[in-house]
Amino acid sequence: MKAKELLAIASEFGAPVYVYDSAKIQKQYERLTKAFDKVESLKVNYATKALSNLSILRFMKHLGCGLDTVSIQEVRLGLDAGFQADEIIFTPNGVSLEELEEAATLGVQINIDNLSILEQFGSKHPNIPVCIRINPHVMAGGNSKISVGHIDSKFGISIHQLPHILRIAKLTNIKINGIHMHTGSDILDIDVFLYASEILFDAAKQFKDLEFIDFGSGFKVPYKEGDIQTNIEELGKKLGKRFNEFCEEYGKSLTLAFEPGKYLVSEAGNFLAAVNVVKQTTSTVFAGIDSGFNHLIRPMFYGSYHDIKNLSNPGGKERFYSVVGYICETDTFANNRRITEISEGDVLCFSNAGAYCFAMTSNYNSRYRPAEVLWHKGQAHLIRKRETYEDLKQNQVDIGSTF
Ligand SMILES: *Cc1c(COP(=O)(O)O)cnc(C)c1O
Repeated sequence: MKAKELLAIASEFGAPVYVYDSAKIQKQYERLTKAFDKVESLKVNYATKALSNLSILRFMKHLGCGLDTVSIQEVRLGLDAGFQADEIIFTPNGVSLEELEEAATLGVQINIDNLSILEQFGSKHPNIPVCIRINPHVMAGGNSKISVGHIDSKFGISIHQLPHILRIAKLTNIKINGIHMHTGSDILDIDVFLYASEILFDAAKQFKDLEFIDFGSGFKVPYKEGDIQTNIEELGKKLGKRFNEFCEEYGKSLTLAFEPGKYLVSEAGNFLAAVNVVKQTTSTVFAGIDSGFNHLIRPMFYGSYHDIKNLSNPGGKERFYSVVGYICETDTFANNRRITEISEGDVLCFSNAGAYCFAMTSNYNSRYRPAEVLWHKGQAHLIRKRETYEDLKQNQVDIGSTF
């Protein structure tokens, strides 16, 4: 999006505000589906938790995505956004049997990540097919060597427990219609990902009723110049070919599923915040913005890098700034970052603010969550109002009269 368009949105809707560009989301979706166009049946299930605004979910539906969900509330949001139950997969970890049953009752595909629940669910509902989340214990090690990942990771059922899965399936007579992996690490080295896929294919041979294989996500997007990103085209070529071969071996055409979150929405998002104060100390120039980790926690939580531009002074001379928030704790967005000269009142733009940004906002320091705007075909649409003082108080029960 152009600086002029973003500034107009900040002045129309106020700042801080999140702005999402639908064209970028669409471009990412099309790039992925094109890369896998040799695969007969591909399903892209958008990972709701990255950005769960209803209008975003509706746009994903419009593109042709399914939905990946991790809580029953996300399932409900998906249904409200117009997804059919069978377009939704529920891939939580460590949730109660009741929550899984609730999703299954709605007709959503469930994905089970532990043996105990598999056994309980299978005994009670042998007629509801389930997907199994496998942990292949593979991740990229240093120097992009393949190494065995956390053997004690909480996610999925260890590949070493495959015999247990098969035993439970046999005992309970439950149908296993899908297998899944989501290693959670970035797919930088496609060979590492293919290696993990081989483990999944190998496991898949043991299940006779498969309809799909879900390769999760882990697509890496660039945050700054020179960042490595997943080569989607190469992945599509190699994994697509291997998948088709596997289907031949298996004797049935299966669906290849992915569940990207960050890949679809990260780069589509910009976060705009105004500068409250420029504060010069003996060593540092701080730009204090009208926001904090209540609105954008990734830099503090994960140490993630977000490019910052001064929209109000694009041609200015570059200087070094530490960009900080107003929260009464250390909330540094960037340290000694080169940004064009900042004056109080200027609007800064944080890029890659689509995924895990608004979704992780809070009311800490009793601040309001910001507004969200979707930029679609040259028009700005408000898709979430800024909170108000009433929202902050809404669920509080005032027992002042008892004191
Ligand atoms: C979070 C999550 C995703 C999405 O991961 P990204 O890195 O945002 O693509 C996919 N699948 C599952 C099960 C998840 O928990």
